[in-house]
Formats: sequence, structure tokens, C-alpha cells
Amino acid sequence: MVKAIVGANWGDEGKGKITDMLAEESDIIVRFQGGSNAGHTIINDYGKFALHLLPSGVFYDHTTSVIGNGVALNIPYLINELKSLTDRNVPMPKILVSDRAQILMPYHVDFDTYEEARLAGKSFGSTKSGIAPFYSDKYAKIGFQVSELFGDEKVLRDKIQNVVLLKNVMLEHLYHKPLLNEDEVFETLMQYKDMVAPYVTDTSAFLHKALKEGKRILLEGQLGSLKDPDHGIYPMVTSSSTLAPYGAIGAGIPAGAIQDVVTVVKAYSSAVGAGAFVSEIFGDEADELRKRGGDGGEYGATTGRPRRMGWFDAVATRYGVRMQGTTEVALTVIDVLGYLDEIPVCVGYEIDGQVTRDFPTTSLLEKAKPVLRTFPGWKCDIRGITKYEDLPENCRNYIEAIEQEIEAPITMVSNGPGRHEIIHRESSFTK
Ligand code: GDP
Repeated sequence: MVKAIVGANWGDEGKGKITDMLAEESDIIVRFQGGSNAGHTIINDYGKFALHLLPSGVFYDHTTSVIGNGVALNIPYLINELKSLTDRNVPMPKILVSDRAQILMPYHVDFDTYEEARLAGKSFGSTKSGIAPFYSDKYAKIGFQVSELFGDEKVLRDKIQNVVLLKNVMLEHLYHKPLLNEDEVFETLMQYKDMVAPYVTDTSAFLHKALKEGKRILLEGQLGSLKDPDHGIYPMVTSSSTLAPYGAIGAGIPAGAIQDVVTVVKAYSSAVGAGAFVSEIFGDEADELRKRGGDGGEYGATTGRPRRMGWFDAVATRYGVRMQGTTEVALTVIDVLGYLDEIPVCVGYEIDGQVTRDFPTTSLLEKAKPVLRTFPGWKCDIRGITKYEDLPENCRNYIEAIEQEIEAPITMVSNGPGRHEIIHRESSFTK
């Protein structure tokens, strides 16, 4: 039984918390895409943690955490992240790394940084983790797969020679930066080999066996639908697919094995980086929501950057929920909205004088203005409530209105950052 946990929006929906919670009743948790460029914040009995590369299940001793083939594997980062857990008394988790994962190299981070600097004011707002150069190289077939570290040295050296030749043209003539050296690249790879060797295995075969044994597998997505390179707000997207169906590819399991897609939806909007953000709010209104948002404010888990804030966007979220193939929705951070007298929701986009409920391509999105509908607030703190019926009526009305808008059943309502702050709900949603 495979369940995917993915985001409907721009990321930071609270997937880490939901994964951490669902991991309790799982055997295996798999990261299938992305790298250390986005973070999950998790609060549990060991304290508060920001994980970037490790799956959110690493806090349980009964789970195995898998770094799938689709991930951008930054090996020193992985080792440091493991150490940061054990330094804080978290038992060493069981980790497996796919022998087909590709390696994020130090020069990927450099190229990301140089390119952002070159683009200056027109940059993508990259986290400079090397993700775009990494995936570019993977698809240009000049990336290094983990398995190659354990293969023929001559073949590896030949490949390094070719890669260094290509990279140095850019370094010399475009960026005017120090050149790569073949021996140094080889040495780096050999160091990585020693670091990663204890964890490397054929994770697809491992998952195949686990599926046959009826194990419960969670696929943990990073970012959200709107950052998908095909279906998101291109080019302000990430460089690997954020959609649940890609989970099959990035983990190495059959597509049909994914039976449940839990899409995490945030009760308001936040985004990082550049790009159109139709329901965005500014000034004091945004500052207030940012300050109260999430757990300790809406600031990037990786960069500490203040997130851009906005009202719930039903147009973007319905689309995001649809693209994920959602079977159920977890609605998060609803407790944060308790201070508002009225809560605006973006229910349509006005583009060139026409109102639409369909999420458009980027050039049209840039022109969209939000059509807002306002809901009465509930003006109280709903943390600690455990039964859906005990939520204030206006809060339930808000949740049920969102459910109608996004056209998918909301089965979980998260009303606090803690692992057990969740309200399960029978949804009577029918399309
Ligand atoms: P992810 O990348 O999707 O996991 O998202 P983040 O790590 O950015 O999570 C959003 C933030 O909201 C984190 O600080 C979580 O601890 C916090 N959070 C998650 N769910 C809730 C919730 O229901 N209420 C509140 N107040 N905070 C939450």
C-alpha cells in the first residue's frame, strides 16, 4: 500500500508535519524528487527540526527512510543532516540511498550561485542549492549516478574529463571564475563514495519486495503542484516534478501502486521566490499574517527569507489538487486565521475583463487580478480542539466552503504544528 503526501500550492503547506504524523503508521518513507533546496519543519518529542534532504520519517525507530533515484543527492549534506539528528539524541535512523540516485556536485552549487548573480535583478530567486544545474546535467546525461562510484575507474575518469571540459568553457568565458580540475573532481567523488557506501542499495528492488510483503510505504513530495516544471508557473518552478505520479518514477515503483494521494493544502497562501502570486497581500496585512503564520512565522526553513503572503487561492489550489490526482486533502494551519474578523478567499481570476476559475499559463497569470469572496472569521483560538463538531461554526463553514471550491474531500484538519494536533473528519463531499 503506497500513500503519497504532496503539496497543492507553492510548497510550505505543512507536508513535513503530515508526513511525520502518518509515518507513525508506516514502514518506509521515500523522498522521490528535489534535494536540499526546500525544508520541512517538524516538531516532535525530540524538539524542533528543519529537515532538507532526509525524509520526515527519520524520527521513528520502526521506519526505514529511502532517498529515491529521483532525488538530487548532496552527499555531505546528507551526512551532516544525519549528524545533526544524532547530536540531538535522535537515534540513528535506518537510511537507504538508491544506487540510481545522481550526485549533486559542489560545482552545481557554484553554477547556481554564478547564474543567479549573472541574472541579477531578473533572477529566479534560487536557493542556490545547485538544483537547476544538477537536473540540467542529469538530463544532458553528464551527471554522476551513485552506481558509477562503484564501477570502473577508467570509465569514471573519462567521463570526468568530458564534464570538466564542458564546465570549464562556461566558467572561463561566461562566469570568469576558477576552473575545475579533473583530479579534484575525481577525489571529491571518491570521498563521496566512502561517505555514502554504507547506505547504497537497489532501493527499487527493496521497495518491490516491501510491496509484496504488504508494507506501508509513504512517498514524501517536496514543494507543491505550482512548482512543477510542466504544470506549474514555468519558469518560476523547480527542476523536478512535484506531482504524486512522479513519485512512482522517483522511487522506482509501478504507478498503479500509489493508491492514496494525500494532498496538503494550506488555509491561506505563502510563496517564496519570484513569480505571479494572484492572491498576494502586502504591507501591514501581510506582515501580520506572516508573523502569526506557521509555527513562529512564515520564514523559509532553508533560507530564513520572509515568505510572500496571500489569501487562500481557490483557483490555484483546485488546479493543484487536480494535478496531484488527490484522493484526500489535509488542510493545515487553519488555527492561524483565528485573529481575523473577515477572511477573504480568492475564488476567481479576472484576466482582460473576463472572470475565470481555471488556472492559466504564466503569461495570462501575470495579468490576473483576484476576485475575492469574504467569509466571517471565528475570532478565537482553535488549538487543542480534537473533534470537528467542536470547531466554531464559522470555522467549519470556511473549511466546507474550501472543500467545495477545491473539489476534493478534506479528511484532516491541522490546527497546530504538533504531531498530534490533527482533527480527523468524515467528509460527505461529492462532486
Ligand atoms: P512543508 O515544507 O510543506 O513541510 O512546510 P513547512 O515546513 O514550511 O511547514 C509549515 C510550517 O507550519 C512549519 O513551521 C510547521 O511546523 C507549521 N505547521 C504545520 N501545520 C500547522 C498547523 O496546523 N498550524 C500551525 N500553526 N502551524 C503548522
